[in-house]
Amino acid sequence: MRLAQRVSSIQPSATLSINAKAKALKAQGQQIISFGVGEPDFPTPHHIQQMAIQAIYRNQSRYTAVGGIDELKTAVADTIEADYGLRYTPEQVIVSCGGKQVLYNLMQVLLEPGDEALIPAPYWVSYPDLVTLAGATPVAVPCREQDGFKLTAERLESALTESSRMLILNSPCNPTGAHYSREELSRLAEVLRARQDLIIVSDDIYYRILFGGEPWCNLAMLDPQLRKRTVIVNGLSKTYAMTGWRIGYGLGDPAIIRAAVKIQSQSTSNPCSISQWAGVAALRGDQSEVKTMVASFEQRCRFVVDSLRSIPGVTCPQPAGAFYVFPNVSHYYGKQAQGYAVDSSLEMAEYLMEQAHIAVVPGGAFGEDRCIRLSYALAHEEIKEGLSRLAQALQELR
Ligand code: PMP
Ligand code: GLU
Repeated sequence: MRLAQRVSSIQPSATLSINAKAKALKAQGQQIISFGVGEPDFPTPHHIQQMAIQAIYRNQSRYTAVGGIDELKTAVADTIEADYGLRYTPEQVIVSCGGKQVLYNLMQVLLEPGDEALIPAPYWVSYPDLVTLAGATPVAVPCREQDGFKLTAERLESALTESSRMLILNSPCNPTGAHYSREELSRLAEVLRARQDLIIVSDDIYYRILFGGEPWCNLAMLDPQLRKRTVIVNGLSKTYAMTGWRIGYGLGDPAIIRAAVKIQSQSTSNPCSISQWAGVAALRGDQSEVKTMVASFEQRCRFVVDSLRSIPGVTCPQPAGAFYVFPNVSHYYGKQAQGYAVDSSLEMAEYLMEQAHIAVVPGGAFGEDRCIRLSYALAHEEIKEGLSRLAQALQELR
């Protein structure tokens, strides 16, 4: 069967593949502990579920406007005004089937062959492939562990070329949990101000999952000139434990949003009408469960980081948010145990899956092969057991 070349130009999503593998092994009766895919382990809050049920009974089950119902777009704009201090009109908002589709639309709208998109590494697995699908070139900008795996002004400056068209910044970051402070963003902004042709994609999907009272900030909030060419990507999946409902949203220049709606009109049309109404309840309703979830992630984060750092040879940057850790396990590369030779993050993930029955995502998929990613949105007992299996499996490598 002849398939289009674009299929072989990308990889399947590593996070979703690991999830599928862990689920298949569990179905065969294996006691797999899955630190694989990143999704909250909480149920969707009850009042959001109720709104969806009512939407079904009210027959809110027809096609909606392609870019989302006005009620949801207005709720998005009001939420962003409250949390970012920035006012957007509903014409500057698009609702899509997840933040992932917002990103897909944006790449289709903004990138052409020959364009480069700068992606600080470690990065979320899907960015390079989404850029490639638009025919453009993803350029990974390696960030150092001693910088907390964050992009610095110097690294940004030296990565910029005449072909640079886009910077994708994700804070708090998947996979590291790193968050850029206002000062750090200001230093990046100095470089960005000189490049008015550069579009900034600010993937803020974890912005509500910030620890220690850390104040939220992104590049659009720094000055109006940057705001004009920043597109905000966000969604309900993480904040409201709604990964399966598939509601994401984007905000930015009306011409960009109109173009994204046009692309969406020829692909998926509107996101699920029932999910959109549930989304209105999520954004307009009681936020106390979000606080509870964030507090629980923070508590688990402390335990996970302490446990990882107590394993000889493992280093782990301190996350400021999200629900991932990204430990450097390369101390154990070049070693062997039980017939497994481990020399890369992929081999490490395979070894851990087969021998310790824990699922982790290889750091190579995030552009940093020395690390592995663990999502700790699991019950405490599972985390404890999983980390003890990890520590043992690592120390068996000689
Ligand atoms: N951006 C980042 C950084 C993510 O981790 C995810 C994970 N799902 C997404 C975007 C997209 O999420 P969704 O499509 O569920 O909104
Ligand atoms: N973003 C989550 C993760 O990184 C969900 C899976 C995906 O969409 O990649 O695990």
